[in-house]
Amino acid sequence: PLSTMATPPPDTRPIVVSGPSGVGKGTLYGMLFDRHPDTFALSVSHTTRDPRPGEERGVHYHYVTMDDFEDLIAKDGFVEHAKYGRNRYGTSKKTIEEQTAKGKVVLLDIEMEGVKQIKNSGISARYIFVSPPSIETLEKRLRGRGTETEQSIQERLSQAQKELEFSKTPGVHDIIIVNDDLEESYKKLEEFVYKS
Ligand code: 5GP
Repeated sequence: PLSTMATPPPDTRPIVVSGPSGVGKGTLYGMLFDRHPDTFALSVSHTTRDPRPGEERGVHYHYVTMDDFEDLIAKDGFVEHAKYGRNRYGTSKKTIEEQTAKGKVVLLDIEMEGVKQIKNSGISARYIFVSPPSIETLEKRLRGRGTETEQSIQERLSQAQKELEFSKTPGVHDIIIVNDDLEESYKKLEEFVYKS
């Protein structure tokens, strides 16, 4: 059955997952990684924000200073990078190259400006957008997570509006998954990832 398949998908191009903060995309691709060990690798981004409780250096992000981040831009080390709230986030070329060399299907969790840059980069990829059932649900989830300040919640909600607007652009995303029921959403994700 699909749910225990540990083989790589027929399509091994990088998978770009985007969607508003708090929508549950991390939970969804986390399930994909758990159920298909050794198949996928998260592209660990660089960020200037601080780690949240429970986040680990080198696992969730490479946490760097603004100076380090700007150094890496100057060295042309990023495939894409963007501002999000007061912080910067970017995908380093090295991360993608290392994981691809290991034979992993690379999964990128990035916001919409990064999505546009990857689209324009000439990298061939697949694009998944995870949408909340409603903005109200999203707000509840963001607050429920308990990791954000009020300012951060407001920034993330206003960013969410932009992401949802962008997701309506025809031809950008290969699939839009409305994350209402987690297992249902996971099924859609797995089916999409493993289809030829
Ligand atoms: P968070 O602070 O919640 O971890 O991430 C905030 C937003 O930044 C999310 O939408 C996430 O997808 C996005 N993000 C994380 N890493 C990158 C990256 O390397 N590039 C871009 N463009 N966005 C990223």
